[in-house]
Amino acid sequence: MPIDATQPYDDQNIFAKILRGEIPSTKVYEDQWAYAFEDINPQAEVHTLVIPKGHYVSWDDFSAKASDAEIGGFVRAVGEVARAKGLVEPGYRLLANIGQHGGQEVPHLHVHICGGQPLGPMIAR
Ligand code: 5GP
Repeated sequence: MPIDATQPYDDQNIFAKILRGEIPSTKVYEDQWAYAFEDINPQAEVHTLVIPKGHYVSWDDFSAKASDAEIGGFVRAVGEVARAKGLVEPGYRLLANIGQHGGQEVPHLHVHICGGQPLGPMIAR
C-alpha cells in the first residue's frame, strides 16, 4: 500500500529501525551521511537500497530541508555503492519511488540501485 509522502516523518518506519540497528540488514556501505543495504526482495541480480541517515520522507522533503552537506554526502554515497558493486561499466538504474503514484511503501527516502542484468523498459506497460 503506497504511503502519503506529504505526512510527517514517522520514526517507527522499517528503515528507521534498520538505521537504529533494531532490525537486521545486510550492510553494503556506510558513512556519516548514508547507509546502504541489500533489498530484502530483490528485483534484479543487484538490488541495493541507499538511505540518508537524516529523517526525510521523500526526495522533495530531502531537497527542501537537508543541508548541502547531507545532500552532497548522500549523492556521493549512491555513486560509491554503484562503483563498489561494479555497476559503472555495464550500467545500472537508480530509482526513487515517491508517494502514491510512485508506489512508495517505506516512508524514509531511499534510492534503489538495480543492475547486474539488462533491466528492460523504464516503466512496465
Ligand atoms: P519502495 O516501494 O518504498 O520504493 O521500496 C521499498 C523497498 O524496501 C522494497 O523494494 C522492499 O523489498 C524493501 N524492504 C521492505 N522492508 C524491508 C526490510 O525489512 N529490509 C530490507 N532490506 N528491505 C526491505
